[in-house]
Amino acid sequence: MRTISYTRATDVRSAVTAVSGDPGSSFLAGGTTEVDLLRLDVLRPNHLVDINRLPLAGIEDLPGGGLRIGALARMSEVAEARGVVERFPMLSEALLLGASAQLRNMASMGGNLMQRVRCSYYRDTASACNKRVPGSGCAALDGVNRGHAVLGTSEHCIATHPSDMAVALVALDAVVHVEGTHGARTLPIDDFFLLPGNTPEREHPLTPGELITAIEVPPTPMARRSHYLKVRDRESYEFALVSAAAALALEDGVIREVRLALGGVATKPWRARRAEELLAGRSADRETFARAAAEELAPADTRPLNAFKADLAQRTIVRALETAAAMGEAT
Ligand code: SF4
Repeated sequence: MRTISYTRATDVRSAVTAVSGDPGSSFLAGGTTEVDLLRLDVLRPNHLVDINRLPLAGIEDLPGGGLRIGALARMSEVAEARGVVERFPMLSEALLLGASAQLRNMASMGGNLMQRVRCSYYRDTASACNKRVPGSGCAALDGVNRGHAVLGTSEHCIATHPSDMAVALVALDAVVHVEGTHGARTLPIDDFFLLPGNTPEREHPLTPGELITAIEVPPTPMARRSHYLKVRDRESYEFALVSAAAALALEDGVIREVRLALGGVATKPWRARRAEELLAGRSADRETFARAAAEELAPADTRPLNAFKADLAQRTIVRALETAAAMGEAT
């Protein structure tokens, strides 16, 4: 058995100083993934800095209709917050579909952004995995990869990003606030997640000890009529095979503005920019939606076991856009 030392941080600065000064240390928030990975010996920190008592749990409505969500706000609290339910329903739906009730009560928003992949080879220390041990290979490439990604992959890693919540946040152009030894900075959420490329072990552009302090969602009036659709093998507590976060602003049946992001199919929460480009200015009908979906999935890199995802993703996009369009027409 390995010994892991533990301290409880009382302010952001001391937490950042503690972790940045010790490469063997990690932050501990809700722990819903991290503790599993400690038990599996996948993560091997020498020291944990518990940040649960830092004053980062607030959910604040911002002037103009935006939101500032503290990194330690729990998923369940955010899903039920009035400002989220009314102004950003896709985020509330993604949070509610994202985990069991027990996990939602414990898991923090910042921790959700930092959660590791669910690839079974990553969690099995006897398997080759470039993300866990850089340069060791990728057992998933020729292994059981039915749940793996078809977009944003590399020859070094094809693990799917597991978050639902982050898909909605990517569609909403959220911004991540972080604090490190050199002060505070912000990152557009699309830049917060890195593609695996040649360095799948590096998932975020954070410096050692940088701590997420908040997530800001800018005012997005069209998001009042938004929708998160999750397709999975069973209807409870399961990761997405495919998901889509969609919002449409319509004018006389023509798409004035669109937001579309995908989960379950890519190595990061996937902003569907190819589809968005095709949809803007066109009529909001099934044929247009199907063309946009095909355009988004055109670069899909599939394997025999996960090839179905390219078709399923297209159908999911069409259905999510049809639902969002019906909501738009109804108002
Ligand atoms: Fe590791 Fe990524 Fe390959 Fe899974 S897909 S075994 S996480 S390198």
